[in-house]
Amino acid sequence: MTHPFTIDDDNFLQLLEPGAQLERLATGAIWSEGPVYVANDDSVTWSDIPNNRMLRWSTRDGMSVFRAPSGFTNGHTLDRDGRLVSCSHGHRRLERTEPDGRVITLVDAFEGKRLNSPNDVVVKSDGTIWFTDPPYGIVSNIEGHAAPSELGGCHVFRFDPADGTLRSVASSLQEPNGLAFAPDESKLYVSDTSSAQGRGDHHHVFVFDVVDGTQLANGRVFASIAPGVPDGFRLDTMGNLYISSADSIQVYAPDGRRLGRIAVPEKVGNCTFGGPDSNRLFIVASASLYAITLNARGAMRPGR
Ligand code: MG
Repeated sequence: MTHPFTIDDDNFLQLLEPGAQLERLATGAIWSEGPVYVANDDSVTWSDIPNNRMLRWSTRDGMSVFRAPSGFTNGHTLDRDGRLVSCSHGHRRLERTEPDGRVITLVDAFEGKRLNSPNDVVVKSDGTIWFTDPPYGIVSNIEGHAAPSELGGCHVFRFDPADGTLRSVASSLQEPNGLAFAPDESKLYVSDTSSAQGRGDHHHVFVFDVVDGTQLANGRVFASIAPGVPDGFRLDTMGNLYISSADSIQVYAPDGRRLGRIAVPEKVGNCTFGGPDSNRLFIVASASLYAITLNARGAMRPGR
């Protein structure tokens, strides 16, 4: 078996574990998204959106159904208390799974109008929850329930669970999708995947400056991704980005240079770092969950 790496820049070699192979850990989904690593049981939970279910995989247990129906969840993360925070297409809300198993609404409306279909989510070190709200869960019944957009646009939102406020921090993107902070939280990266279903022409990752820890400014294109679109992505401790595309994880340095690619045999939806040393990149791609060991560690606490 040949290694899955394409080297575009020699600095990529420093991020790779010699001899590492891409492993397929589980399969059987239709479209996999939103992986979150849970350290206390060394597991990955993710969404199989068209099947309206959440899946779980661990070394000990293999793959199992975590929740079905799931309300067409998409992205997941953990908050600072280790609670599962999820984007729900079906309920058009941001939701949280409580320690007793109840799933509660965090927020489902902005200025009195229903959200579109929250897609991906990250938690900042101050506990605020930042998420994207493109229309993929309301444009058809495949990944949610078809309905008109009440907002008439797509925002990146900042939700503060301490006081329940929801603010739009960006409305300039056509269909914002994946998002992640730079390791020092001075920047927020947000992908725009509007070209995926032909409603726009973006297949880019944008970067914004984070101002006062609460606002975004100076949005500009960071990278244009092909083939396919940049759905979800994550960063390592050095600020490199691991970005999904149709045929690979594409790795970019913080200065915008592409370092290389990790070939994946299915269309990639998202990824997350995990494992005891945070050096396993778990990749969800169409039907399957993959993993590869890197010489790099996830920038943020597992799950964030
Ligand atoms: Mg997404």
